[in-house]
Amino acid sequence: DLEIVPSPFLAFLKDLHSKYKSLQEGAVANYIPELAKVNPDLFSICIVTVDGQLYEVGDYEQLFTIQSMSKVFAYGLALEDRGRDYILTKVGVEPTGDAFNAIILDEQSKRPHNPMVNAGAIATTSLIKGSGATERLNRMLDMFRRYIGRDVFVDISVFTSERSTGHRNRAMAHLMLNFGTIDQNIEEALDLYFQQCAVMVNCRDLAVMAATLANRGTNPITGEQAVDSRYIKDILSVMYTCGMYNFAGEWAYKVGIPAKSGVCGGIFAVVPQQMGIAVFSPLLDTRGNSVRGVKVCEELSQHLSLHLFDCS
Ligand code: GLU
Repeated sequence: DLEIVPSPFLAFLKDLHSKYKSLQEGAVANYIPELAKVNPDLFSICIVTVDGQLYEVGDYEQLFTIQSMSKVFAYGLALEDRGRDYILTKVGVEPTGDAFNAIILDEQSKRPHNPMVNAGAIATTSLIKGSGATERLNRMLDMFRRYIGRDVFVDISVFTSERSTGHRNRAMAHLMLNFGTIDQNIEEALDLYFQQCAVMVNCRDLAVMAATLANRGTNPITGEQAVDSRYIKDILSVMYTCGMYNFAGEWAYKVGIPAKSGVCGGIFAVVPQQMGIAVFSPLLDTRGNSVRGVKVCEELSQHLSLHLFDCS
């Protein structure tokens, strides 16, 4: 079971939480109608170390849909299913500098730029193996279970809300079908993509998932292997270069650790061999990143000297 550790570090997190609790900048995502209903005041910070210590403050048990953060884990499953070389022929690893929902493919290769933008994530999801829609969904849910350490569920309202309004995503899928990047039934691929985005997690779950990536793919709480360790470097590299929407470069420069955010207001970050960090606060900046989440991670990175290239 998770162990809660009272410590000066927890006191530091509590101070950080109360410092940014009053920050009210940003707006909740509303392009998926169901997401607009979230309480904007929710706020939590969780850290799980690779040796299984847990530090958490705020609304850490509040469930929300994982949204774009799911892309990281789906990429890992697709890599396991198809291997690195094949996945690279279908989805690139180049940051775009464009919005996550831009309807563009790489000019020459006709591949989506990377697995963290929507087009790349839809292509990635279409590569997950299974004999039909149900088996593919079950394999996906089982993958999330391994990372989190409990059964997970899809929020049906968010799923249907997104399926009925996700015209941009549908347009990307059609573009990729046109170029042969996706050969599967695209409605089925889109459904699985919308389902993966609507998986319910809380901030603690996200920190455990991040800690699993930090711990070479093995969940530090359950000891179960969630993803083959050989793909950790692929996963963390695309998180580092492409994980924070079109703020990825600035994030790499300032915070300096691989991370992924989602329009739900979650951010998780991975400190290899050390810890997973997760923040949840639904108020987003114009690029789609949680305003408080970015601030908290910037301070944590400074306070704990987490920047990967910091040698001062
Ligand atoms: N399901 C969302 C979409 O495809 C994910 C967006 C996000 O979190 O960036 O638009």
